[in-house]
Amino acid sequence: MKCPPPAKDPRYARQIPIIGEEGQEKLSKSKVAIVGLGGLGSITSQYLAAAGVGELIIIDSDVVEDNNLNRQLLYDTPSIGLPKAPIAARRLKSLNPCTEIKWYQGKLTEENIDEVIGEVDLILDCLDNWETRLVLDDYSWRKGIPLLHAAVEQFYGQIYFSIPGKTACLRCIAPRQDTKREGGIPVIGAGVGVIASLQALIAIQYLVGVYKEPGTLILVDSKRGSIDKIRIDPSACRCSTL
Ligand SMILES: [Zn+2]
Repeated sequence: MKCPPPAKDPRYARQIPIIGEEGQEKLSKSKVAIVGLGGLGSITSQYLAAAGVGELIIIDSDVVEDNNLNRQLLYDTPSIGLPKAPIAARRLKSLNPCTEIKWYQGKLTEENIDEVIGEVDLILDCLDNWETRLVLDDYSWRKGIPLLHAAVEQFYGQIYFSIPGKTACLRCIAPRQDTKREGGIPVIGAGVGVIASLQALIAIQYLVGVYKEPGTLILVDSKRGSIDKIRIDPSACRCSTL
């Protein structure tokens, strides 16, 4: 398929009045890694592809399970038992053929992260464990790539946007112990969608150059419908040279 110039593509006609033709061009030149294609990554990847981000690198190590389907809207019943990343890639390509999709099916580690992610403008943490999150955080700081973290449990979620050299890193707001729990983290699909949509929206704002609040911990209570924001002092980062 031949892709029209992004600013003239009718696909984006309803968002260009908000982000401008220049913003749309910036999106089309952006490269974003989405790590984790579960409840959060299912939604963020679709919104970023639909919005016209130029290239997505999508990463997951799991196969689709029946208990994923209450929230992981990239997959359907016939996908059960199949690896997530290639299915997601096909779905996203079908949603927007003008977004280039690269996928990696496997666990992200310190050893392979340079090769798998490489140079991108932004990394989205859509994971469900802190072990891999901290691998992402280290990579983000080593390469100077902004990292947009999100996590969710029950009705609650958090988002934190770390920019190396400007904000505190993710490690400094991480819990001391990763909690692994039998049966996975309890969530309602729509509740995950609230956090994922906000994460995608912040990513788009950042890529078009209008996001103003990196370094702020956003706490969402989707049961009460409330959002609280806590500014994290960059000097609280114990591992940076700020
Ligand atoms: Zn730190």
